[in-house]
Amino acid sequence: MERPKDFVPVSLAPDPVIEYYKQFVDVSLLRENLKLTPTERVRKMQEMGRVYAELRRAGENLSRQIQAQPAGTLLPMGEQVRRAVYPGSFDPPTLGHLDIIQRAARLFDELIVAVAVNAQKQSLFSLQERVQMLQECCRHLPNVRIASLEGLLARFADQVGACAIVRGLRAVSDFEYEFQMATMNRQLAPEVDTCFLMTHQQYAFLSSSIVKEVARLGGSVDALVPPNVAHKLRERFAPKTAGTHHPSSE
Ligand code: ADP
Repeated sequence: MERPKDFVPVSLAPDPVIEYYKQFVDVSLLRENLKLTPTERVRKMQEMGRVYAELRRAGENLSRQIQAQPAGTLLPMGEQVRRAVYPGSFDPPTLGHLDIIQRAARLFDELIVAVAVNAQKQSLFSLQERVQMLQECCRHLPNVRIASLEGLLARFADQVGACAIVRGLRAVSDFEYEFQMATMNRQLAPEVDTCFLMTHQQYAFLSSSIVKEVARLGGSVDALVPPNVAHKLRERFAPKTAGTHHPSSE
């Protein structure tokens, strides 16, 4: 019986094409192709190659677009975007906060750092100053944006379509308050989960209050806060010359 012209026994067929595509797909999918004649196989591989190339181009375009977005730009709202809110006073932001922000930004598609307007807490820095300091130190994080938060956190999280609230945990002493907050927020917004990130051991004893205390007494805070915040603290606690007035530090 005469063999078809382009027939090659499969076991002997050298298959550089399959070797090449192995890096992109599950080889089991390609086994089917072994039943095809070499000519058919090459045609199919070329077709698949075009599809993969297109997919790769689309992926590269998308990541270029995301990287090109200025810090603070939101991705389009959609079910696939996993957005989280990291609320706090950030008075001022510390390296402990920044560490939580960076880690949460890796876990979620988008992170909104929400700076609380807290009428009960006397803050050293005004809301605008805290927002600006955070904007400056999160510039390198394209999926982080800074917002101000007035009113109920649970409502805010719901409104922005967040799936989680991020909080940092330091010592056991943080736990009770955080537990209460998380329980209350779950009642108010059952769809939004609270997610705790353990502090980096380096920052376990770092808090905004300690930073303010050190700065007020003239100590160096360079190892505790981002450089722009250290600068702001030095300005704030510099010996006042006549006529200088800082309403929010009183
Ligand atoms: P709040 O007044 O809401 O406690 P803070 O600005 O003090 O706001 O803190 C915001 C969040 O960051 C809280 O969840 C707090 O536990 C967390 N946090 C503060 N400092 C650190 C740190 N050094 N390491 C990890 N988490 C921290």
